[in-house]
Amino acid sequence: MQLPDLSDPLYFLLATLVVFLVVIGRYVLIAGMFHLFFYRWKPARWQGRKINERAHKPGQYRREVTWSTITALLFAFAGSGLALLWQKGYTKVYLDVHDYPLWWLPLSLIIALALHETYYYWLHRWMHQPRVFRLLHKVHHDSNITSPWTAFSFHPLEGVLQALFLPLLLLLLPMHLYVVLLQLTIMTFSSVINHLDIEVYPKGWLGRFFGRWLIGATHHSLHHKQFRYNYGLYFTFWDKWKKTESPQYRGLYDEKRSGG
Ligand SMILES: [Zn+2]
Ligand SMILES: [Zn+2]
Repeated sequence: MQLPDLSDPLYFLLATLVVFLVVIGRYVLIAGMFHLFFYRWKPARWQGRKINERAHKPGQYRREVTWSTITALLFAFAGSGLALLWQKGYTKVYLDVHDYPLWWLPLSLIIALALHETYYYWLHRWMHQPRVFRLLHKVHHDSNITSPWTAFSFHPLEGVLQALFLPLLLLLLPMHLYVVLLQLTIMTFSSVINHLDIEVYPKGWLGRFFGRWLIGATHHSLHHKQFRYNYGLYFTFWDKWKKTESPQYRGLYDEKRSGG
Protein backbone atom coordinates (compact mmCIF):
# COMPACT_ATOMS: atom_id res chain seq x y z
CA MET A 1 0.00 0.00 0.00
CA GLN A 2 1.28 3.43 -0.98
CA LEU A 3 0.99 6.16 1.66
CA PRO A 4 -0.10 9.57 0.35
CA ASP A 5 2.59 12.26 0.35
CA LEU A 6 2.79 13.38 3.99
CA SER A 7 4.48 16.67 3.15
CA ASP A 8 0.97 17.75 2.08
CA PRO A 9 -0.38 19.36 5.33
CA LEU A 10 -3.83 17.80 4.89
CA TYR A 11 -2.46 14.27 4.65
CA PHE A 12 -0.04 15.01 7.48
CA LEU A 13 -2.94 16.03 9.75
CA LEU A 14 -4.96 13.00 8.65
CA ALA A 15 -2.02 10.73 9.47
CA THR A 16 -1.71 12.46 12.87
CA LEU A 17 -5.40 11.79 13.53
CA VAL A 18 -5.04 8.10 12.65
CA VAL A 19 -1.96 7.70 14.91
CA PHE A 20 -3.76 9.58 17.69
CA LEU A 21 -6.72 7.17 17.51
CA VAL A 22 -4.35 4.19 17.69
CA VAL A 23 -2.37 5.62 20.66
CA ILE A 24 -5.40 6.74 22.66
CA GLY A 25 -7.31 3.55 21.78
CA ARG A 26 -4.43 1.39 23.00
CA TYR A 27 -4.19 3.41 26.26
CA VAL A 28 -7.94 3.26 26.95
CA LEU A 29 -8.06 -0.46 26.13
CA ILE A 30 -5.07 -1.51 28.25
CA ALA A 31 -5.62 0.88 31.20
CA GLY A 32 -9.36 0.11 31.05
CA MET A 33 -8.76 -3.67 31.13
CA PHE A 34 -6.47 -3.37 34.16
CA HIS A 35 -8.86 -0.98 35.89
CA LEU A 36 -11.84 -3.29 35.42
CA PHE A 37 -9.94 -6.43 36.34
CA PHE A 38 -8.13 -5.14 39.43
CA TYR A 39 -10.36 -2.35 40.76
CA ARG A 40 -13.91 -3.27 39.76
CA TRP A 41 -14.00 -7.08 39.50
CA LYS A 42 -13.55 -8.49 43.04
CA PRO A 43 -11.27 -5.71 44.34
CA ALA A 44 -11.11 -7.51 47.74
CA ARG A 45 -9.20 -10.30 45.96
CA TRP A 46 -6.25 -7.90 45.49
CA GLN A 47 -6.25 -6.21 48.92
CA GLY A 48 -3.13 -8.07 50.08
CA ARG A 49 -1.28 -6.91 47.00
CA LYS A 50 -2.46 -3.29 47.12
CA ILE A 51 0.49 -1.06 47.90
CA ASN A 52 -1.20 2.03 49.34
CA GLU A 53 -4.23 1.85 51.58
CA ARG A 54 -5.61 5.27 50.68
CA ALA A 55 -8.12 5.43 47.84
CA HIS A 56 -7.61 7.50 44.69
CA LYS A 57 -8.68 11.14 44.99
CA PRO A 58 -12.09 12.21 43.64
CA GLY A 59 -11.68 13.40 40.05
CA GLN A 60 -8.22 11.82 39.76
CA TYR A 61 -9.08 9.50 36.85
CA ARG A 62 -10.63 12.33 34.82
CA ARG A 63 -7.56 14.51 35.36
CA GLU A 64 -5.21 11.66 34.39
CA VAL A 65 -7.19 10.77 31.26
CA THR A 66 -7.18 14.46 30.21
CA TRP A 67 -3.39 14.79 30.53
CA SER A 68 -2.92 11.39 28.89
CA THR A 69 -5.07 12.50 25.93
CA ILE A 70 -2.79 15.52 25.41
CA THR A 71 0.24 13.21 25.64
CA ALA A 72 -1.36 10.90 23.05
CA LEU A 73 -1.77 13.88 20.72
CA LEU A 74 1.93 14.75 21.11
CA PHE A 75 2.89 11.10 20.49
CA ALA A 76 0.66 11.22 17.39
CA PHE A 77 2.57 14.23 16.00
CA ALA A 78 5.82 12.39 16.72
CA GLY A 79 4.40 9.36 14.88
CA SER A 80 3.28 11.25 11.78
CA GLY A 81 6.55 13.25 11.84
CA LEU A 82 8.39 9.94 11.91
CA ALA A 83 6.30 8.65 8.97
CA LEU A 84 7.16 11.81 7.02
CA LEU A 85 10.87 11.37 7.77
CA TRP A 86 10.58 7.71 6.73
CA GLN A 87 8.90 8.73 3.46
CA LYS A 88 11.77 11.12 2.74
CA GLY A 89 14.27 8.35 3.41
CA TYR A 90 15.77 9.72 6.63
CA THR A 91 14.90 6.89 9.03
CA LYS A 92 16.20 3.35 9.38
CA VAL A 93 12.72 1.82 9.68
CA TYR A 94 12.39 -1.15 7.31
CA LEU A 95 9.42 -3.18 6.09
CA ASP A 96 10.99 -6.33 4.60
CA VAL A 97 12.09 -8.69 7.41
CA HIS A 98 14.88 -9.95 5.16
CA ASP A 99 16.57 -6.56 4.91
CA TYR A 100 18.52 -7.56 8.05
CA PRO A 101 19.23 -10.99 9.60
CA LEU A 102 16.28 -12.43 11.52
CA TRP A 103 18.19 -12.33 14.82
CA TRP A 104 18.27 -8.56 14.43
CA LEU A 105 14.49 -8.43 15.10
CA PRO A 106 14.76 -9.39 18.83
CA LEU A 107 18.17 -7.78 19.26
CA SER A 108 16.98 -4.43 17.89
CA LEU A 109 14.06 -4.56 20.36
CA ILE A 110 16.41 -5.23 23.30
CA ILE A 111 18.74 -2.42 22.23
CA ALA A 112 15.82 -0.01 21.76
CA LEU A 113 14.41 -0.84 25.21
CA ALA A 114 17.84 -0.45 26.86
CA LEU A 115 18.42 2.92 25.13
CA HIS A 116 14.92 4.09 26.02
CA GLU A 117 15.65 3.09 29.63
CA THR A 118 18.87 5.11 29.60
CA TYR A 119 17.24 8.16 28.01
CA TYR A 120 14.34 8.12 30.47
CA TYR A 121 16.40 7.41 33.60
CA TRP A 122 18.61 10.47 33.08
CA LEU A 123 15.76 12.67 31.83
CA HIS A 124 13.76 11.62 34.89
CA ARG A 125 16.59 12.45 37.30
CA TRP A 126 16.97 15.85 35.65
CA MET A 127 13.21 16.45 35.94
CA HIS A 128 13.48 15.92 39.70
CA GLN A 129 15.65 18.99 40.14
CA PRO A 130 13.33 21.37 42.06
CA ARG A 131 12.92 24.08 39.42
CA VAL A 132 12.55 21.67 36.54
CA PHE A 133 10.20 19.52 38.63
CA ARG A 134 7.69 22.32 39.18
CA LEU A 135 7.53 23.10 35.49
CA LEU A 136 7.74 19.68 33.83
CA HIS A 137 7.13 16.79 36.15
CA LYS A 138 4.77 17.91 38.94
CA VAL A 139 1.67 17.03 36.89
CA HIS A 140 2.77 13.38 36.84
CA HIS A 141 3.42 13.38 40.60
CA ASP A 142 0.04 14.97 41.39
CA SER A 143 -1.02 11.31 41.33
CA ASN A 144 0.35 10.42 44.79
CA ILE A 145 -1.46 7.11 44.70
CA THR A 146 -1.11 6.01 41.10
CA SER A 147 -3.77 4.31 39.00
CA PRO A 148 -3.70 2.56 35.62
CA TRP A 149 -4.84 5.89 34.14
CA THR A 150 -1.66 7.63 35.43
CA ALA A 151 0.31 5.85 32.67
CA PHE A 152 0.58 8.86 30.32
CA SER A 153 -0.49 11.64 32.67
CA PHE A 154 2.30 14.10 31.89
CA HIS A 155 2.66 17.84 31.46
CA PRO A 156 2.89 18.55 27.68
CA LEU A 157 6.53 19.70 28.05
CA GLU A 158 7.40 16.34 29.57
CA GLY A 159 5.25 14.71 26.87
CA VAL A 160 7.33 16.39 24.13
CA LEU A 161 10.61 15.22 25.71
CA GLN A 162 9.25 11.69 25.89
CA ALA A 163 7.82 11.78 22.36
CA LEU A 164 11.17 12.82 20.86
CA PHE A 165 12.97 9.64 21.82
CA LEU A 166 11.66 7.20 19.21
CA PRO A 167 11.99 9.45 16.11
CA LEU A 168 15.56 10.31 17.18
CA LEU A 169 16.39 6.65 17.80
CA LEU A 170 15.02 5.58 14.42
CA LEU A 171 17.26 8.03 12.58
CA LEU A 172 20.10 5.79 13.76
CA LEU A 173 18.89 2.30 14.70
CA PRO A 174 17.41 0.02 12.02
CA MET A 175 14.12 -1.45 13.26
CA HIS A 176 11.37 -3.35 11.49
CA LEU A 177 8.06 -1.47 11.58
CA TYR A 178 6.36 -4.29 13.53
CA VAL A 179 9.16 -4.28 16.12
CA VAL A 180 8.61 -0.52 16.57
CA LEU A 181 4.88 -1.16 17.10
CA LEU A 182 5.71 -3.97 19.54
CA GLN A 183 7.98 -1.65 21.52
CA LEU A 184 5.19 0.95 21.76
CA THR A 185 2.77 -1.70 23.00
CA ILE A 186 5.31 -2.94 25.59
CA MET A 187 5.71 0.69 26.68
CA THR A 188 1.95 1.03 27.26
CA PHE A 189 1.65 -2.28 29.15
CA SER A 190 4.71 -1.48 31.25
CA SER A 191 3.45 2.00 32.16
CA VAL A 192 -0.01 0.69 33.12
CA ILE A 193 1.47 -2.16 35.23
CA ASN A 194 3.94 0.21 36.94
CA HIS A 195 1.16 2.64 37.90
CA LEU A 196 -1.40 0.01 38.95
CA ASP A 197 -0.54 0.29 42.69
CA ILE A 198 -1.28 -3.45 42.94
CA GLU A 199 1.68 -5.84 42.72
CA VAL A 200 0.91 -8.32 39.93
CA TYR A 201 4.23 -10.20 39.69
CA PRO A 202 4.17 -13.87 40.79
CA LYS A 203 5.35 -15.39 44.07
CA GLY A 204 7.98 -17.98 43.06
CA TRP A 205 11.42 -17.78 41.39
CA LEU A 206 9.95 -15.90 38.42
CA GLY A 207 8.71 -13.22 40.81
CA ARG A 208 12.18 -12.99 42.38
CA PHE A 209 13.69 -12.56 38.90
CA PHE A 210 11.13 -9.92 37.89
CA GLY A 211 11.61 -8.08 41.17
CA ARG A 212 15.33 -7.96 40.64
CA TRP A 213 15.39 -6.76 37.03
CA LEU A 214 11.99 -5.37 36.04
CA ILE A 215 10.19 -2.34 37.34
CA GLY A 216 6.70 -3.12 38.58
CA ALA A 217 3.94 -1.58 40.65
CA THR A 218 5.80 -1.75 44.01
CA HIS A 219 8.96 -0.24 42.54
CA HIS A 220 7.21 2.65 40.87
CA SER A 221 4.69 3.31 43.68
CA LEU A 222 7.71 3.93 45.92
CA HIS A 223 8.93 6.50 43.38
CA HIS A 224 5.62 8.38 43.61
CA LYS A 225 5.80 8.26 47.42
CA GLN A 226 9.49 8.87 48.10
CA PHE A 227 10.50 10.94 45.03
CA ARG A 228 14.24 10.41 45.48
CA TYR A 229 14.44 6.73 44.51
CA ASN A 230 13.41 4.39 41.66
CA TYR A 231 13.70 6.58 38.55
CA GLY A 232 13.72 3.73 36.02
CA LEU A 233 11.24 3.00 33.24
CA TYR A 234 11.31 -0.74 32.36
CA PHE A 235 14.39 -2.14 34.11
CA THR A 236 16.16 -1.65 37.42
CA PHE A 237 19.76 -1.65 36.18
CA TRP A 238 20.35 2.12 36.22
CA ASP A 239 18.80 2.45 39.69
CA LYS A 240 21.12 -0.33 40.87
CA TRP A 241 24.26 1.12 39.23
CA LYS A 242 23.61 4.64 40.48
CA LYS A 243 22.39 3.41 43.89
CA THR A 244 19.01 5.11 43.55
CA GLU A 245 16.92 2.05 44.34
CA SER A 246 14.76 2.53 47.44
CA PRO A 247 16.11 0.63 50.47
CA GLN A 248 12.50 -0.33 51.25
CA TYR A 249 11.92 -1.87 47.83
CA ARG A 250 12.96 -5.52 48.28
CA GLY A 251 11.12 -6.01 51.58
CA LEU A 252 7.94 -4.36 50.37
CA TYR A 253 8.06 -6.23 47.06
CA ASP A 254 8.39 -9.64 48.77
CA GLU A 255 5.55 -8.75 51.12
CA LYS A 256 3.20 -7.58 48.34
CA ARG A 257 3.85 -10.36 45.84
CA SER A 258 3.02 -12.90 48.55
CA GLY A 259 -0.10 -11.00 49.54
CA GLY A 260 -2.74 -13.17 47.91
ZN1 LIG B 1 9.27 11.26 38.96
ZN1 LIG C 1 4.96 7.46 37.42
